Amino acid sequence: MEILLNGTRVAVQPGQTIMQAADSAGVHVPRLCNYPQLKPSGACRLCVVQVKGARGLVAACTTPVAEGMEIETDSPTVADARRDVLDLLVSNHPLDCFHCEACGDCALQDYAYQYGIKEGSYDGARRQVEVDDRNPFFRIDYEKCVLCGICVRMCDEVMGYGAIDFAGRGFTTLVSTPYGVSLDDSACVFCGNCVQGCPVGALVPKSQVGAARAWEMKKVRSVCPYCGVGCAIDVHVKGNRIIKIEGAESPANHTMTCVKGRFGWEFVHHEDRLLKPLVRRADAPRGAVGREWFEEATWDEALAAAAAGIARVRDGVGPDAVAGLSSAKASNEENYLFQKLLRAAVGTNNVDHCARL
Ligand code: SF4
Ligand code: SF4
Ligand code: SF4
Repeated sequence: MEILLNGTRVAVQPGQTIMQAADSAGVHVPRLCNYPQLKPSGACRLCVVQVKGARGLVAACTTPVAEGMEIETDSPTVADARRDVLDLLVSNHPLDCFHCEACGDCALQDYAYQYGIKEGSYDGARRQVEVDDRNPFFRIDYEKCVLCGICVRMCDEVMGYGAIDFAGRGFTTLVSTPYGVSLDDSACVFCGNCVQGCPVGALVPKSQVGAARAWEMKKVRSVCPYCGVGCAIDVHVKGNRIIKIEGAESPANHTMTCVKGRFGWEFVHHEDRLLKPLVRRADAPRGAVGREWFEEATWDEALAAAAAGIARVRDGVGPDAVAGLSSAKASNEENYLFQKLLRAAVGTNNVDHCARL
């Protein structure tokens, strides 16, 4: 199937939306409410395009392509319509870009720049909402919310919790928990996928507040250290310190994370974190666990000490006096090797895994 996209013939797949076809052809259609993991909602009207023969402009995110469709994604009419949408949004938005954590990584800021919107032309009341700082993980500033609904749909469609939804009507519409309770008291599990999806500065991880501008952070692709799912993550780093973690695209997680992977990384910079192997001192009393009874060692020394200790128990008391508890933080392959070590080298079936809590 073929369409004419901005005057160029483009092959498309049946069932694709205009937005998907444009994305495949490398043509960006502006959007605020569209997110790859969510069903299109056609809410923000920023993705309107001109289709020859259609009555009025159509939303690219919800309109399927058809054979021979002639589409203009950035005609003067389309650009005017987008300017109107942006003007309405900006007219009810705190122009706080100097201090906003989203500055430099904000879809509204980018599109306002692209379409030349410096300020809103509609006078009148502006939404006034206190910043909600009640939960431990992210700051909520609904004065900056553009009501795209990504957070609501993320929580419902992808996570299945439905902790938040739109409340109120018209000018007073806001995203809210039931009865406006703190997320702590709602069904929220603090996965933070809503925060990652928010296209503006309405939802921001607390670890980022005042810590780094968007352009100061380096993104380092990694794998979550917590469990065997192995979610891909982007670690946002400034000066060798983690500022925040976001989910990255991989077959394991498709950019989602759970609360541990996204927010549970403070141990990385904790002063008690072990960075080198420690071996118990020869004069340590039996059962002593304080740091003062251990001394730094090389990996070879530490592994030799561990092997000697296990062999001493196995040979002196018997193999079943030894047990191994493995970790979900290790890979499947490492866990396989661990049970092999216990069964083959020590000679016991006393091996278990913390995922069986
Ligand atoms: S959300 Fe975006 S447009 Fe609004 S103040 Fe922050 S950076 Fe500026
Ligand atoms: S953090 Fe997760 S569970 Fe909580 S509101 Fe956001 S998407 Fe829903
Ligand atoms: S908080 Fe963010 S993601 Fe949620 S509706 Fe507002 S702008 Fe969209």
